[in-house]
Amino acid sequence: METIKVKILSKCDDCEGQAYLPSAKGTDSRGVDYQRHAPCTTCKGFGQTEK
Ligand SMILES: [Zn+2]
Repeated sequence: METIKVKILSKCDDCEGQAYLPSAKGTDSRGVDYQRHAPCTTCKGFGQTEK
């Protein structure tokens, strides 16, 4: 007897559902520093993880 698997998604703990995390600081063409963001490696930019 098989049970139906239901995928339950929950908020990613690493990025707190933001999907992106701050990465290295960058500097734009006017020399102004800004915060770069990279996709969260845990949820791969989805902001949610499967349990
Ligand atoms: Zn994440």
